[in-house]
Amino acid sequence: MFITAPPSTIQPPLDLFAAIQDLKRDLNAVILAHYYQEPDIQDIADYIGDSLGLSQQAASTEAEVIVFAGVHFMAETAKILNPQKQVLLPDLAAGCSLADSCPPAEFAAFKAEHPGHIVISYINCSAEIKALSDIICTSSNAVKLVQQIPPQQPIIFAPDRNLGRYVMEQTGRDLVLWQGSCMVHETFSERKLVGLKTLHPEAEILAHPECETAVLRHADFIGSTTALLNYSGRSDRQTFIVATEPGIIHQMQKQMPDRTFIPAPPLNNCPCNECPHMRLNTLEKLYWAMKNRAPEITLPEPTRLAALQPIQRMLAMSH
Ligand code: SF4
Repeated sequence: MFITAPPSTIQPPLDLFAAIQDLKRDLNAVILAHYYQEPDIQDIADYIGDSLGLSQQAASTEAEVIVFAGVHFMAETAKILNPQKQVLLPDLAAGCSLADSCPPAEFAAFKAEHPGHIVISYINCSAEIKALSDIICTSSNAVKLVQQIPPQQPIIFAPDRNLGRYVMEQTGRDLVLWQGSCMVHETFSERKLVGLKTLHPEAEILAHPECETAVLRHADFIGSTTALLNYSGRSDRQTFIVATEPGIIHQMQKQMPDRTFIPAPPLNNCPCNECPHMRLNTLEKLYWAMKNRAPEITLPEPTRLAALQPIQRMLAMSH
Protein backbone atom coordinates (compact mmCIF):
# COMPACT_ATOMS: atom_id res chain seq x y z
CA MET A 1 0.00 0.00 0.00
CA PHE A 2 1.38 3.42 -0.93
CA ILE A 3 1.30 6.33 1.44
CA THR A 4 0.12 9.14 -0.80
CA ALA A 5 -0.70 11.79 1.76
CA PRO A 6 1.17 12.97 4.82
CA PRO A 7 -0.39 12.47 8.25
CA SER A 8 -2.75 15.43 8.54
CA THR A 9 -1.56 16.43 12.03
CA ILE A 10 2.03 16.98 10.91
CA GLN A 11 2.88 20.21 9.17
CA PRO A 12 5.71 20.33 6.65
CA PRO A 13 8.75 22.33 7.79
CA LEU A 14 8.78 26.01 6.86
CA ASP A 15 12.08 25.78 5.03
CA LEU A 16 11.34 22.97 2.60
CA PHE A 17 14.60 23.51 0.71
CA ALA A 18 16.68 22.92 3.87
CA ALA A 19 14.50 19.98 4.97
CA ILE A 20 14.86 18.31 1.57
CA GLN A 21 18.63 18.80 1.62
CA ASP A 22 18.74 17.11 5.07
CA LEU A 23 16.62 14.19 3.84
CA LYS A 24 18.79 13.85 0.76
CA ARG A 25 21.85 13.43 2.94
CA ASP A 26 20.12 11.05 5.39
CA LEU A 27 18.73 8.81 2.60
CA ASN A 28 21.79 9.03 0.32
CA ALA A 29 19.31 10.18 -2.30
CA VAL A 30 19.64 11.90 -5.64
CA ILE A 31 16.90 14.14 -7.02
CA LEU A 32 16.44 13.89 -10.78
CA ALA A 33 14.07 16.42 -12.34
CA HIS A 34 12.65 16.93 -15.80
CA TYR A 35 12.75 20.39 -17.38
CA TYR A 36 8.94 20.50 -17.24
CA GLN A 37 8.90 20.53 -13.45
CA GLU A 38 8.01 23.68 -11.52
CA PRO A 39 10.94 26.09 -10.93
CA ASP A 40 11.35 25.26 -7.19
CA ILE A 41 11.82 21.57 -7.99
CA GLN A 42 14.29 22.36 -10.76
CA ASP A 43 16.24 24.54 -8.33
CA ILE A 44 16.64 21.80 -5.73
CA ALA A 45 17.38 18.96 -8.16
CA ASP A 46 20.84 17.40 -8.45
CA TYR A 47 20.31 16.89 -12.13
CA ILE A 48 17.83 18.47 -14.54
CA GLY A 49 17.43 17.06 -18.00
CA ASP A 50 15.37 15.57 -20.76
CA SER A 51 14.40 11.91 -20.98
CA LEU A 52 17.74 10.77 -22.44
CA GLY A 53 19.85 12.67 -19.91
CA LEU A 54 17.66 11.54 -17.03
CA SER A 55 17.86 7.88 -18.02
CA GLN A 56 21.64 8.15 -18.39
CA GLN A 57 21.85 9.73 -14.93
CA ALA A 58 19.56 7.06 -13.49
CA ALA A 59 21.78 4.39 -15.02
CA SER A 60 24.97 5.80 -13.49
CA THR A 61 23.94 7.12 -10.08
CA GLU A 62 25.61 5.78 -6.94
CA ALA A 63 22.80 7.02 -4.70
CA GLU A 64 20.68 4.48 -2.83
CA VAL A 65 17.41 6.33 -3.37
CA ILE A 66 16.31 8.02 -6.60
CA VAL A 67 13.70 10.73 -6.14
CA PHE A 68 12.25 11.22 -9.58
CA ALA A 69 10.56 14.56 -10.17
CA GLY A 70 8.87 13.78 -13.44
CA VAL A 71 6.06 11.54 -14.59
CA HIS A 72 5.38 7.88 -13.98
CA PHE A 73 7.04 6.39 -17.08
CA MET A 74 10.26 8.28 -16.28
CA ALA A 75 10.42 6.98 -12.70
CA GLU A 76 9.58 3.53 -14.05
CA THR A 77 12.55 3.79 -16.44
CA ALA A 78 14.79 4.64 -13.49
CA LYS A 79 13.47 1.56 -11.66
CA ILE A 80 13.97 -0.66 -14.72
CA LEU A 81 17.62 0.43 -14.73
CA ASN A 82 18.04 0.24 -10.94
CA PRO A 83 16.15 -2.72 -9.48
CA GLN A 84 18.13 -2.59 -6.22
CA LYS A 85 17.41 1.07 -5.59
CA GLN A 86 14.35 2.66 -4.17
CA VAL A 87 12.69 4.96 -6.71
CA LEU A 88 10.26 7.54 -5.35
CA LEU A 89 7.78 9.62 -7.35
CA PRO A 90 6.28 12.62 -5.47
CA ASP A 91 2.81 11.99 -6.91
CA LEU A 92 1.91 8.55 -8.26
CA ALA A 93 -0.89 10.10 -10.31
CA ALA A 94 1.65 11.99 -12.45
CA GLY A 95 0.97 10.06 -15.64
CA CYS A 96 1.30 10.98 -19.31
CA SER A 97 -1.36 11.35 -22.00
CA LEU A 98 1.08 10.07 -24.61
CA ALA A 99 1.93 6.93 -22.63
CA ASP A 100 -1.80 6.41 -22.00
CA SER A 101 -2.50 6.61 -25.74
CA CYS A 102 -0.74 3.28 -26.24
CA PRO A 103 -2.49 0.52 -24.26
CA PRO A 104 -0.37 -2.68 -24.17
CA ALA A 105 -3.08 -5.12 -25.38
CA GLU A 106 -3.95 -2.99 -28.42
CA PHE A 107 -0.30 -2.42 -29.18
CA ALA A 108 0.48 -6.16 -29.00
CA ALA A 109 -2.31 -6.76 -31.55
CA PHE A 110 -0.95 -3.95 -33.79
CA LYS A 111 2.51 -5.49 -33.60
CA ALA A 112 1.10 -8.91 -34.55
CA GLU A 113 -0.47 -7.31 -37.66
CA HIS A 114 3.02 -6.26 -38.80
CA PRO A 115 5.20 -9.38 -38.74
CA GLY A 116 8.88 -8.84 -39.57
CA HIS A 117 8.86 -5.28 -38.22
CA ILE A 118 11.10 -4.20 -35.38
CA VAL A 119 9.59 -1.86 -32.81
CA ILE A 120 11.24 1.41 -31.89
CA SER A 121 9.38 3.10 -29.06
CA TYR A 122 9.77 6.59 -27.74
CA ILE A 123 10.67 6.45 -24.05
CA ASN A 124 7.33 8.15 -23.23
CA CYS A 125 5.53 4.83 -22.85
CA SER A 126 4.74 2.35 -20.10
CA ALA A 127 7.06 -0.47 -19.01
CA GLU A 128 4.68 -2.91 -20.72
CA ILE A 129 5.14 -1.14 -24.07
CA LYS A 130 8.90 -1.02 -23.55
CA ALA A 131 8.77 -4.77 -22.95
CA LEU A 132 7.10 -5.16 -26.38
CA SER A 133 9.80 -3.03 -28.07
CA ASP A 134 13.19 -3.78 -29.60
CA ILE A 135 14.77 -0.36 -29.11
CA ILE A 136 13.77 2.64 -27.02
CA CYS A 137 14.52 6.15 -28.24
CA THR A 138 14.13 9.69 -26.98
CA SER A 139 13.52 12.87 -28.93
CA SER A 140 17.29 13.50 -28.69
CA ASN A 141 18.33 10.32 -30.43
CA ALA A 142 15.30 9.04 -32.43
CA VAL A 143 16.69 10.16 -35.80
CA LYS A 144 20.18 8.78 -35.10
CA LEU A 145 18.85 5.42 -33.93
CA VAL A 146 16.56 4.95 -36.93
CA GLN A 147 19.51 5.82 -39.21
CA GLN A 148 21.43 2.91 -37.66
CA ILE A 149 18.80 0.34 -38.71
CA PRO A 150 19.47 -1.35 -42.09
CA PRO A 151 17.28 0.28 -44.80
CA GLN A 152 15.49 -2.96 -45.73
CA GLN A 153 14.35 -3.56 -42.13
CA PRO A 154 10.69 -2.44 -41.64
CA ILE A 155 10.05 -0.46 -38.45
CA ILE A 156 7.04 0.24 -36.26
CA PHE A 157 7.44 3.56 -34.45
CA ALA A 158 5.39 4.14 -31.28
CA PRO A 159 3.67 5.82 -29.56
CA ASP A 160 4.03 9.44 -30.79
CA ARG A 161 2.84 10.02 -34.35
CA ASN A 162 4.26 13.56 -34.50
CA LEU A 163 7.76 12.51 -33.50
CA GLY A 164 7.37 9.54 -35.88
CA ARG A 165 6.45 11.84 -38.79
CA TYR A 166 9.40 14.08 -37.97
CA VAL A 167 11.76 11.06 -37.93
CA MET A 168 10.33 9.95 -41.30
CA GLU A 169 11.07 13.38 -42.78
CA GLN A 170 14.59 13.48 -41.37
CA THR A 171 15.58 9.97 -42.35
CA GLY A 172 13.53 9.40 -45.51
CA ARG A 173 12.38 6.09 -43.95
CA ASP A 174 8.85 4.81 -44.21
CA LEU A 175 7.80 4.00 -40.63
CA VAL A 176 4.59 2.32 -39.51
CA LEU A 177 3.24 4.78 -36.95
CA TRP A 178 1.18 4.11 -33.87
CA GLN A 179 -1.28 7.04 -33.71
CA GLY A 180 -0.54 8.34 -30.21
CA SER A 181 0.09 11.95 -29.24
CA CYS A 182 0.84 14.30 -26.36
CA MET A 183 -2.04 16.54 -25.23
CA VAL A 184 0.39 19.36 -24.43
CA HIS A 185 2.33 19.46 -27.69
CA GLU A 186 -0.82 19.18 -29.80
CA THR A 187 -2.26 22.24 -28.11
CA PHE A 188 -0.16 24.87 -29.85
CA SER A 189 -2.00 27.02 -32.36
CA GLU A 190 -0.33 27.53 -35.73
CA ARG A 191 -2.44 30.64 -36.36
CA LYS A 192 -1.48 32.22 -33.02
CA LEU A 193 2.15 31.23 -33.50
CA VAL A 194 2.26 33.03 -36.84
CA GLY A 195 0.57 36.05 -35.21
CA LEU A 196 3.17 36.08 -32.43
CA LYS A 197 5.99 35.84 -34.94
CA THR A 198 4.54 38.90 -36.74
CA LEU A 199 4.78 40.82 -33.47
CA HIS A 200 8.37 39.59 -32.91
CA PRO A 201 9.84 39.19 -36.40
CA GLU A 202 13.37 39.01 -34.96
CA ALA A 203 12.48 35.99 -32.77
CA GLU A 204 13.49 32.45 -33.61
CA ILE A 205 10.87 29.73 -33.14
CA LEU A 206 12.12 26.70 -31.19
CA ALA A 207 9.91 23.59 -31.24
CA HIS A 208 9.85 20.10 -29.78
CA PRO A 209 9.26 17.33 -32.36
CA GLU A 210 6.17 16.17 -30.43
CA CYS A 211 4.43 19.27 -31.92
CA GLU A 212 2.21 18.84 -34.96
CA THR A 213 3.69 19.26 -38.45
CA ALA A 214 1.74 22.52 -38.90
CA VAL A 215 3.71 24.04 -35.99
CA LEU A 216 7.03 22.37 -36.83
CA ARG A 217 7.09 23.85 -40.32
CA HIS A 218 7.42 27.34 -38.81
CA ALA A 219 10.28 26.34 -36.51
CA ASP A 220 13.81 27.67 -36.96
CA PHE A 221 15.11 24.87 -34.74
CA ILE A 222 13.55 21.53 -33.77
CA GLY A 223 14.95 19.38 -30.98
CA SER A 224 14.60 17.78 -27.57
CA THR A 225 14.29 20.07 -24.55
CA THR A 226 18.05 19.87 -23.94
CA ALA A 227 18.74 20.64 -27.61
CA LEU A 228 16.38 23.66 -27.48
CA LEU A 229 18.14 24.93 -24.35
CA ASN A 230 21.58 24.51 -25.90
CA TYR A 231 20.53 26.06 -29.20
CA SER A 232 19.13 29.17 -27.51
CA GLY A 233 22.56 29.62 -25.89
CA ARG A 234 24.54 29.51 -29.12
CA SER A 235 22.12 31.41 -31.39
CA ASP A 236 22.96 35.04 -32.15
CA ARG A 237 19.29 36.06 -31.62
CA GLN A 238 17.97 37.68 -28.45
CA THR A 239 14.33 36.58 -28.58
CA PHE A 240 12.84 33.09 -28.86
CA ILE A 241 9.33 31.73 -29.15
CA VAL A 242 9.33 28.35 -27.40
CA ALA A 243 6.90 25.64 -28.56
CA THR A 244 7.15 23.06 -25.81
CA GLU A 245 6.08 22.84 -22.18
CA PRO A 246 7.01 26.24 -20.69
CA GLY A 247 8.83 24.68 -17.70
CA ILE A 248 11.98 24.70 -19.85
CA ILE A 249 11.86 28.50 -19.93
CA HIS A 250 12.94 28.57 -16.27
CA GLN A 251 16.30 27.03 -17.26
CA MET A 252 16.58 29.16 -20.40
CA GLN A 253 15.98 32.35 -18.43
CA LYS A 254 18.34 31.25 -15.63
CA GLN A 255 21.18 30.49 -18.04
CA MET A 256 20.51 33.45 -20.35
CA PRO A 257 18.99 36.25 -18.24
CA ASP A 258 19.63 38.85 -20.97
CA ARG A 259 17.50 37.00 -23.56
CA THR A 260 13.74 36.91 -23.97
CA PHE A 261 11.79 33.65 -24.11
CA ILE A 262 8.13 33.73 -25.06
CA PRO A 263 5.95 30.62 -24.65
CA ALA A 264 4.18 29.62 -27.88
CA PRO A 265 0.44 30.23 -27.49
CA PRO A 266 -2.03 27.36 -27.03
CA LEU A 267 -5.28 27.11 -29.00
CA ASN A 268 -7.47 28.52 -26.24
CA ASN A 269 -6.51 31.12 -23.71
CA CYS A 270 -5.86 28.36 -21.19
CA PRO A 271 -2.67 27.22 -19.46
CA CYS A 272 -2.99 23.93 -21.41
CA ASN A 273 0.56 24.19 -22.71
CA GLU A 274 1.58 23.31 -19.12
CA CYS A 275 1.65 19.55 -18.65
CA PRO A 276 -1.02 18.80 -16.02
CA HIS A 277 0.75 15.53 -15.18
CA MET A 278 4.17 17.04 -14.63
CA ARG A 279 2.65 19.84 -12.57
CA LEU A 280 1.10 17.40 -10.09
CA ASN A 281 4.51 17.22 -8.42
CA THR A 282 5.17 20.00 -5.93
CA LEU A 283 8.06 20.79 -3.61
CA GLU A 284 5.87 19.79 -0.66
CA LYS A 285 4.99 16.42 -2.21
CA LEU A 286 8.68 15.90 -2.96
CA TYR A 287 9.45 16.49 0.72
CA TRP A 288 6.74 14.06 1.89
CA ALA A 289 7.85 11.41 -0.59
CA MET A 290 11.35 11.55 0.88
CA LYS A 291 10.11 11.72 4.45
CA ASN A 292 7.71 8.75 4.01
CA ARG A 293 9.86 6.93 1.43
CA ALA A 294 6.66 6.61 -0.58
CA PRO A 295 5.08 6.52 -3.13
CA GLU A 296 7.55 4.01 -4.45
CA ILE A 297 7.74 2.60 -7.99
CA THR A 298 7.65 -1.20 -8.17
CA LEU A 299 7.53 -3.49 -11.19
CA PRO A 300 7.04 -7.22 -11.78
CA GLU A 301 10.50 -8.64 -12.48
CA PRO A 302 9.61 -10.29 -15.85
CA THR A 303 8.28 -6.94 -17.15
CA ARG A 304 11.33 -5.12 -15.83
CA LEU A 305 13.73 -7.54 -17.49
CA ALA A 306 11.89 -7.41 -20.82
CA ALA A 307 11.77 -3.59 -20.70
CA LEU A 308 15.45 -3.35 -19.77
CA GLN A 309 16.80 -4.82 -23.00
CA PRO A 310 15.49 -2.15 -25.41
CA ILE A 311 16.63 0.61 -23.03
CA GLN A 312 20.11 -0.89 -22.84
CA ARG A 313 20.18 -1.06 -26.66
CA MET A 314 19.33 2.63 -26.78
CA LEU A 315 22.02 3.55 -24.26
CA ALA A 316 24.61 1.50 -26.18
CA MET A 317 23.56 2.99 -29.55
CA SER A 318 23.57 6.56 -28.18
CA HIS A 319 27.28 6.70 -27.31
S1 SF4 B 1 4.30 16.90 -21.84
FE1 SF4 B 1 3.11 15.34 -22.98
S2 SF4 B 1 4.55 13.67 -23.30
FE2 SF4 B 1 5.41 14.97 -21.67
S3 SF4 B 1 4.65 14.05 -19.76
FE3 SF4 B 1 3.19 15.66 -20.33
S4 SF4 B 1 1.60 14.56 -21.48
FE4 SF4 B 1 3.38 13.21 -21.42
